[in-house]
Amino acid sequence: MKWVIKVILLIFIILLVILLSGRIINSQNKALAQSIDIEFLLSRYYYDNLVSEEIENEKSKKNYDNAKKKQDILISDYYSKIEEENTKHTNEDIESGKSAYLTFDDGPSKHNTLEILKILDEYDVKATFFVLGVMAENNPETLKLIHENGHSIGNHSYSHKYGCIYKNSENFFADVENCEAVLKNILGEDFHTKLLRFPGGSYGNKKSEIKNQALAKGYNVVDWNALNGDAEKSNPSADYLIKRFKETHKNKKNIIILIHDTDAKENTVKVLPEIIETLMDEGYTIKALDEN
Ligand SMILES: [Zn+2]
Repeated sequence: MKWVIKVILLIFIILLVILLSGRIINSQNKALAQSIDIEFLLSRYYYDNLVSEEIENEKSKKNYDNAKKKQDILISDYYSKIEEENTKHTNEDIESGKSAYLTFDDGPSKHNTLEILKILDEYDVKATFFVLGVMAENNPETLKLIHENGHSIGNHSYSHKYGCIYKNSENFFADVENCEAVLKNILGEDFHTKLLRFPGGSYGNKKSEIKNQALAKGYNVVDWNALNGDAEKSNPSADYLIKRFKETHKNKKNIIILIHDTDAKENTVKVLPEIIETLMDEGYTIKALDEN
């Protein structure tokens, strides 16, 4: 009988070992699964954060300084879209000759606008100034000089504050009308311009509703299809500005060039003669946009 008990005991021990080892393996699997889960969740968490950060960056463009490379990619994408849209637009009303419109945004400034006016006079060319109401209030005499020298003046909003003006169309048109009132106050009640340039351009679906309303109100919404890149960096070199101008205007018959006459843009003034001479050498007639 003893051996029977021994066999049963042995079977029992074997069964116990199998059972225990199964449990151990099972719990090991569980632990592994759990750690994978945590890892997965963590990676998801970081991934989601990265993605939302990325979306936030693109939306607000606030963190450009922290992501220099990304900024360059975004800007070049943005401008290539602009060029695409504007080429379509300008192709519709191509005139027989080659026309170039120099447009100066965000002024009038204390110094650079005056320097630019001198250069335009030297070459006997007319340009268009998309002024800000707030800047015109600060430099009313310069605004008068632009007008007296026969250049065109366009509305570029009063404040240029994206956050406020693009919240809704009421804000946008209140700001634009505020600029209009400032211009009339300085240049006289008879002054009127239909030229309107949206701060940052009128591109994109977000602004399309406001743009349609502006067109319905009789504004001539003007974007651009070439630029000198003076808004792409804080202090771009003269070489950079010339390079960007050459890249963006080539092979275009009618060009509207975006330039800024704010005081911070020193090299913009320096390269203006070269830009004018290049345009003249290439057979462009340099004109001001029609205010009416
Ligand atoms: Zn602007």
